[in-house]
Amino acid sequence: MLLFTPGPTPVPQNVRDAMSAETMHHRTPEFEAIFEKTRAHLFKLFKTDEVIMVASSGTGAMEAAVINLCHNTLLNINSGKFGERFGKIAKAHGLGSIEIKNEWDTPASVAEVEAELKANPQIDAIAIQVSESAGGLRHSVEEIAAAAKAINPEIMIIADGITAVGVEPIDVTNIDALLAGSQKALMLPPGLALLGLSNAAIEKIGEGKGYYLNLASEIKKQRQNTTAYTAATTLTIGLLEVLETIESDGGIDALYAKTAIRANATRGALQALGLHIYPKNPANSMTTIMDENASEIRKLLKEEYDVNVAGGQDHLKGKIFRINQMGLISDYEMVWVLNAVELALDKLGRRKYDGSANKIYNQITFGIGE
Ligand SMILES: *Cc1c(COP(=O)(O)O)cnc(C)c1O
Repeated sequence: MLLFTPGPTPVPQNVRDAMSAETMHHRTPEFEAIFEKTRAHLFKLFKTDEVIMVASSGTGAMEAAVINLCHNTLLNINSGKFGERFGKIAKAHGLGSIEIKNEWDTPASVAEVEAELKANPQIDAIAIQVSESAGGLRHSVEEIAAAAKAINPEIMIIADGITAVGVEPIDVTNIDALLAGSQKALMLPPGLALLGLSNAAIEKIGEGKGYYLNLASEIKKQRQNTTAYTAATTLTIGLLEVLETIESDGGIDALYAKTAIRANATRGALQALGLHIYPKNPANSMTTIMDENASEIRKLLKEEYDVNVAGGQDHLKGKIFRINQMGLISDYEMVWVLNAVELALDKLGRRKYDGSANKIYNQITFGIGE
């Protein structure tokens, strides 16, 4: 079965092998050497002033960022389930919460954010997804961050890059916390969260907030290549293997370029079948199709063609399907997925099979002429 859900993503064989060794003790020079190497790779990936690893799912990084960087009122951008979650975290911690809510296909505009910041000067942090996985859209995070800092240079920008770090370059000039999670673009099992931090963020963190998610304790320890509590040793070993694999495969910029071509070719192929791309500004992390037969297509993909793609949640349940584009994906896997979608449409009596999906994918990916 091909796993093509936008998280969890498949773990490459060499990474699984690297994680199959005996459990290592975390307070040893051997593990500290692995931690140090992993950190060095992460600085290149995040391009932020500091990078912290925390043993938790991605939501742990979201909570850590909110409690440590927001001391008054959080403005959260809700164009989907993950954006909504930031508001719930703020409320759970008794912080002020203001939300900009849009339909799941619609990214927030710079103007909407500017208006909220001007009307509510108590807002001291903004939380936004780079790629909102609920509908697969890309927010204009860099523009929004720049506009917010122009209004209030002290404001903290929390960017959830859980389906963006490792997918596409992100300009971190105005970003104070950039979040990632192991089971999405980083091709690992779930359980490791990562935070890239700016120097301004570190200053605001001060002594830190919370206990397990207190970022001040982690910054102090991780600068010495250790962790405040037991490190996720096996996942860290896996992460080092992933980052070394990306490097030996041509480096992160080559992966970004390949992912962009694959995402573009996939969108082109699916549109050639007459399918509708759901988000107004699609992210490169996944391709989301809105279709009245979304459930039937997913079922056929799984039962007839061995392909597992994700559906929608909440009001989009049964209305969309999402195909992963993150990680090291082979063209021979991608063409099979697109071919399977075309076969499913034929089986549903929607459109006679003529090989268009693969033809368009190959044309865009390999530059083959008409
Ligand atoms: C998956 C995901 C998360 C975190 O989810 P966990 O289940 O806690 O790992 C957060 N934000 C986005 C955009 C995601 O895709």
